[in-house]
Amino acid sequence: MRDQETGIVTCDFCGTYLGNYFTGDYYKLIKMKFCPACKAQADRQRKAFWAREKRKADRREKAEMKSRLERLEAENAALRRQIIEGR
Ligand SMILES: [Zn+2]
Repeated sequence: MRDQETGIVTCDFCGTYLGNYFTGDYYKLIKMKFCPACKAQADRQRKAFWAREKRKADRREKAEMKSRLERLEAENAALRRQIIEGR
C-alpha cells in the first residue's frame, strides 16, 4: 500500500514497511506491492493456480478428443455398412 501523503510503502498483504518513495528508491518502490516473503507466496499461488487451470484445460481437451474419436468411429462404421450393403 502507498500512502500518498507520507510516501510510505507497506506490503499489501502483511503490512510490513518496505520504504518511502519520497526518500527511497522511487522506481523500485512504486512497483512493489508485497514484501519479499509475501511476493514469493503470491508467486507460488499464481503458479499453482495456472498449473491447475492447465490441468483442467488438458482434461477438457482429452474428453473432447475422445468424444470426437467416438463420433468418427461410429460414422466410419455407418459408412462401411453403406458401402457393403450398396454392393
Ligand atoms: Zn508481506
